[in-house]
Amino acid sequence: MSVLPAQLLPDNASVTADGRLQIAGVDILELAREFGTPLFVHDEDHIRARCRQAREAFPDGVAYASKAFLCRAIAELAHEEGMHIDVASGGEMHLALQAGVPADRLVLHGNNKSTAELRYALEQRVHRVVVDSFDELDRIEALVAEGLPAPRVLLRITPGVKANTHEFIQTGQDDSKFGFGVRVGHADRAIERAAASPAIELVGLHAHVGSQVFEVGSFEKVAEVLAGIFARFQAKTGPNARMEELCIGGGLGVAYVEGEADCGIVEWGQAVRRACAAAGISAKITAEPGRSIIASSAITLYTVGTIKDIPGVRTYVSVDGGMSDNPRPVLYGSGYETFLPRATDADRPKTIRLVGKHCESGDLLVREGLVPADIRVGDIISTPVTGAYGYSLGSNYNKVPRPAVVFVKDGQARQVIRRETWDDLLRLDC
Ligand SMILES: *Cc1c(COP(=O)(O)O)cnc(C)c1O
Repeated sequence: MSVLPAQLLPDNASVTADGRLQIAGVDILELAREFGTPLFVHDEDHIRARCRQAREAFPDGVAYASKAFLCRAIAELAHEEGMHIDVASGGEMHLALQAGVPADRLVLHGNNKSTAELRYALEQRVHRVVVDSFDELDRIEALVAEGLPAPRVLLRITPGVKANTHEFIQTGQDDSKFGFGVRVGHADRAIERAAASPAIELVGLHAHVGSQVFEVGSFEKVAEVLAGIFARFQAKTGPNARMEELCIGGGLGVAYVEGEADCGIVEWGQAVRRACAAAGISAKITAEPGRSIIASSAITLYTVGTIKDIPGVRTYVSVDGGMSDNPRPVLYGSGYETFLPRATDADRPKTIRLVGKHCESGDLLVREGLVPADIRVGDIISTPVTGAYGYSLGSNYNKVPRPAVVFVKDGQARQVIRRETWDDLLRLDC
C-alpha cells in the first residue's frame, strides 16, 4: 500500500466517501473546472494558523518572509495576523506597501540593495533595514547626509555555520555572498562602524543560515557564535547603538514527501529561544519564517495531457504546467508526491515521471511519482506542499501564462491572482 500521507495536505483537507478531495469544504475538482489548470489552491485558515503559531513562538516579533509567496492577499493576511513582512527587494517592498501594509511593519533585506531601494525604505521609514555590506553602509550614510532619516538597522552576521541543506540555499557559511563574516573580523568591524555612525540607529544583529533546515542544532550553533558577539558589544551602547534584538532569520524545514517529518513552528521557536538563553543572549529574539508559514497550505492542480509508456523504461505523464510554475525540482532536485484528487486516498501502485510542457528534458516536476493504476488523459493530478517558492520562483518560460491562485475558506473560494492571458504576455513589449 502506498497512499498519499494525509499530513502533507493542508490542515482543512478532507476526503469524501467516494474519495474526492475537499479543502475547507470546497470540492477541488470543481475548482479546477471553474478556474482552469494549472491552479494553486491555498487553505487560508492553514496560513492563518501558522502565522498565529509563529507569533506565539516568537512573542518579541516575527516577520513573514514574503519571497516564499507574495501577492496583495497574502500581504494583507500576514499583516492582519500581526506579522511583520520581510521584503528583499524594492519590488517586494512596493507590493507590500500597495497592499496597505504600513512601512513600519516592513523589514528590508538584500545583499545588494540599490540606492533607489534604500532611498525608498528610508523615505518610508521601514521598521528595519538589515544591512549586509560595508558598501551598503556607505550608501546609507550618503542618503542620510542628503537629509533622509537615519534607519533602524540590524547587521546581518555570517556566523560560519554550514546548515545541512542544499548548497544553493545555505547562507550561513564563511564562503557566502551574504553578510558580515565573523571569522574574518568583518562582523566586529561593521558593528564598530555602525555604532559610531550618526546615520545609523543600530538595534541589533541578524543571522539567517539557510532554508529547508531540519536540524535545530544549526540554530544552536548560530546562537553560540552570536552570543560571543553580543557579550563583547552589549555594554557598548550609546544613544545610536543598542544591541537589543537578535533576528534568527527563517529556514525551518517542512516535510514534502512520505517519510519526512518537520518539528513545527512552535517547537522551533522554543528550541531557538532556549538555545539563545542557554548561550547567554538576553536580547529580544525575533524570526522570519517563510516556507514554514505557507508551503503546506497549498496544492497545485494540473491536467494530464499525454501519457507515454516506454516499455521497459518508464511512463511519462505530461501536464499543462511545469518548471514555469515550480522550478524547485530543477533547481534543487526537490521531491514531491503526486495524487489524483478524484481518488485521494487510493492506493498508488504505478510509478510515473511527472513532466511539464516546456521544451527541454530538464522540465520535470516529480522524478518518481506514485499514482493509481487507472490514471488517464484528462485527469486532474496534484502535487501537495507547493505553497512556497513555486509561484514566486516561477517564470513565463515558453510564454506559458502564469497560473491563477485561489484561497479557500469556510466553503468559499476566492481568486487572489488571476490567470495570465496570452495578451498579458505582450504588455512589456514596446
Ligand atoms: C529566505 C529568507 C528567509 C525565509 O526562509 P524560509 O526558509 O522560507 O523560512 C528569512 N530570512 C532571510 C534573510 C531570507 O533570505
